[in-house]
Amino acid sequence: MKQTSNIVIRTLALNSSVRVFLVDNTALLQEICNSSAPLVVNTALGRALSAASLITATLKDRQRLSMKIKFSHPDHYLYIDVDSNGNIRGYISDELLFESKNRRDGKPYGLNEMIGKHGSIRIIKDIGMYGNFTGITDMPYQNITDDIAYFYQQSEQTPTAFYHTIQFNERNEICRSKGIMAQPLPGAPAYLMDDISKRYHQHEDCFIHHGLMESATTMFPDIKIMDTIKIQHHCECSRNTLYPMLYSLNKDELLLAISNQEAIELMCHTCGRKYRFDHVDIMRLVQTF
Ligand SMILES: [Zn+2]
Repeated sequence: MKQTSNIVIRTLALNSSVRVFLVDNTALLQEICNSSAPLVVNTALGRALSAASLITATLKDRQRLSMKIKFSHPDHYLYIDVDSNGNIRGYISDELLFESKNRRDGKPYGLNEMIGKHGSIRIIKDIGMYGNFTGITDMPYQNITDDIAYFYQQSEQTPTAFYHTIQFNERNEICRSKGIMAQPLPGAPAYLMDDISKRYHQHEDCFIHHGLMESATTMFPDIKIMDTIKIQHHCECSRNTLYPMLYSLNKDELLLAISNQEAIELMCHTCGRKYRFDHVDIMRLVQTF
């Protein structure tokens, strides 16, 4: 499969009154999404990752942002974490994956149905020495993309629009993923958001099939390219960084694993990667108690 570069372009458009970011994150989604997962799950994760890829372009210095998108069922959620260096990681909860594969009547779930009426989005922005900003909103659109835009509208009082296109091949693998984020600058007329929506839908085909630069200039002829940012799937975790987490387990639990010669699996709560520690690893730890 052709790997496209993971890139976000930062621009100003419409008389420099709107900041428009464009992303091609096909390779990123191919890496993070699991092609054996149902389409509905990869669509959800893909949409959240695309919004997050674009949001990285709004982060400064050493800022970091995490997003938890919780569906109506308390154990069904997506978690995404991004930083100003373009590092992106994300995963879906095991319970959500299991449910999406095992509906009782065997029919595939629709995304709005999986999200339900009680979904919520919680975003924590770590702004370094100034602390954290936390915002939470509900999900009235039940489609993730518009719900994240709604989050910005509500919690940051900033009109925001996201557009995202994701395409799958017949083997359920992601073959294309691109997105746009638009935010008017202070003082910009309110009708601009409708104008952007019209331009996107009018040129959607070009956006899907042509390069980012070409589609950007087709959609917004007066566009000014500010810079480009590389994004990548990256997490700092390793077996060594997760190993100390075994200390947080109850000693009886550890001794039981040793006597049953069982492994303990720990998950990195930033990227979702799982690490197995066998009874020999656990024994080594218990000896230090
Ligand atoms: Zn990790």
